[in-house]
Amino acid sequence: MSDVKSKTLDAVIVGSGMAGMYMLHRLRKQGLNVLAVEAGTGVGGAWYWNRYPGCRCDVPSIEYSFSFSKELEQEWDWTEAMVSQPELERYLNHVADRFDLRKDIQFGTRVTSANYDESSARWTVTTDQGDVFDTNYCVMATGCLTIPNYPDINNADAFQGEVYHTATWPKEEVDFTGKRVAVIGCGSSGVQTIPIIAEKAEQLIAFQRSPVYTFPARNAPMKPEFLAQAKKDYPEIRAKQRNCASGIAGYTGPAKAEGEVEKPKSSRKILGLTAEQRQAELEEFGMGAIPNYVDAFFNEDANAIVRDMFDQSLKAIVKDPQKADALSPKDYPLHCKRPVIDTNYYEAFNKDSVSIVDLRESAIEELTATGLRTSDGSEYEFDILVYATGFDAMTGGLTAIDIRGIGGESIKEKWADGPTAYLGLQVSGFPNLFTITGPGSPSILSNVIVSIEYHCEWIDQTIQYLRDNDIKAMEAKQSAADAWADHVNEAAQGTMYVAPTCNSWYLGSNIDGKKRMFMPYLGGVDKYDQKCKDVIAKGYEGFALSR
Ligand code: NAP
Repeated sequence: MSDVKSKTLDAVIVGSGMAGMYMLHRLRKQGLNVLAVEAGTGVGGAWYWNRYPGCRCDVPSIEYSFSFSKELEQEWDWTEAMVSQPELERYLNHVADRFDLRKDIQFGTRVTSANYDESSARWTVTTDQGDVFDTNYCVMATGCLTIPNYPDINNADAFQGEVYHTATWPKEEVDFTGKRVAVIGCGSSGVQTIPIIAEKAEQLIAFQRSPVYTFPARNAPMKPEFLAQAKKDYPEIRAKQRNCASGIAGYTGPAKAEGEVEKPKSSRKILGLTAEQRQAELEEFGMGAIPNYVDAFFNEDANAIVRDMFDQSLKAIVKDPQKADALSPKDYPLHCKRPVIDTNYYEAFNKDSVSIVDLRESAIEELTATGLRTSDGSEYEFDILVYATGFDAMTGGLTAIDIRGIGGESIKEKWADGPTAYLGLQVSGFPNLFTITGPGSPSILSNVIVSIEYHCEWIDQTIQYLRDNDIKAMEAKQSAADAWADHVNEAAQGTMYVAPTCNSWYLGSNIDGKKRMFMPYLGGVDKYDQKCKDVIAKGYEGFALSR
């Protein structure tokens, strides 16, 4: 008897993170026979896998939540201003239960391939569990930060101690008590986990190649009056989220209480301020003022000034000048990478037990059975190695699956010269396959849950349209995808995101051999939203529809 489990469906959704969950809810409401396929054993996507100590969202809790259900908004009580991974995972489990999503999610199953058949305009989706799904539509809810990046280090398997990656952290607690720990990488994940691990570890060595610009998170327990007011203000908060560039309304809650510290001002230009004024702002608002000077996004002189301010602040916190120097991000501008926010990151380096190895001076040469060796011959010994080395971002979740469209062309081949997707929603040559927060959409440059909701609604509306109008296949035209890719590229020009000294996962330059290309859309959620609506209003301009 064959182990193959075949099913005919209207839609397959790959992934059950926030995108897959909402997509499932929408398509099911439309009456589709739909299944979400999920590699993990629970919902949550990024918030399921990234359960490392200290993992926390960098968008305020009030704004990092689904807006599609007024009841959900009112019944969920966030306990902190910036929500931690365990609480977010609880929230997403609550959403799954509340909307009875689990019955249409197949957990513990990884999609391995998706093949398009032109004559039937249907997809065949296979999994590592032997499933074969025959489906009309494929929705890739595979996330932007899914596939962990393990750096290519010599003798990587030689190390005999425990090894973890922040992006695939185990559910069981890892006990760092009395252990010597090495952490490679200092993006958002490394910066969040280092201070927490350092609380227990006997010794922590941070191996840092490109120290980051990181700013205080200002997290705090949620104030009951703030939460109560936010619940009343949700309609305005949601409207503002969709009508601004970032998808973050910047909700400040009830009127400021007496004695409360004012948030750093934004939208100011540093070049317009005198040296005394800059100093005064730094003293009044602290480091948090630094990322808000708008001219530093575009102007190198402005950027040089804020970098000096940054170094000054860093040196004021980190007492050891050598450590402060190693933590200084000297060789690339602020706003090249995603800004990081932290809780007591620099303070952790004031502990004697926490040291830093500046890999700009001597790179990692190889791993050994007991630790690692750097290019200057230094050897470091430790018991636990933590990779905080990020992801094959934006495209990794898609290229990890053998997706083949018209003529058997794979998405990997299609994107050999860089990923192009019309509006980040569809790749030419791959009809009836949709990508939520795909390359070319605001996605991770915005409050991603806003962008996810928007995409799910657009795809839902579109599938309804295709069904109502007996349209068998919908495909992005190559000309439209190319024009959109040019526009995405133009939108990034002149910003620090694409400065020649900038290497980031936005550009794909953290992955060997990946084409350097700025992948997310910088034009803003509001403009993007309007563009997508216009496309529909013009009868799906840029898409070929066939009956
Ligand atoms: P990341 O920002 O890509 O950082 C990876 C780090 O690993 C970098 O410091 C990188 O150095 C280093 N690295 C990579 N290969 C290396 C090698 N061979 N040798 C030495 N160092 C190496 O990854 P991440 O920290 O996981 O964050 C990725 C994104 O996830 C964030 O930007 C954010 O969007 C999201 N995230 C968000 C939160 C939050 O909401 N607070 C938390 C975690 C993650 P180089 O820069 O030199 O390559």
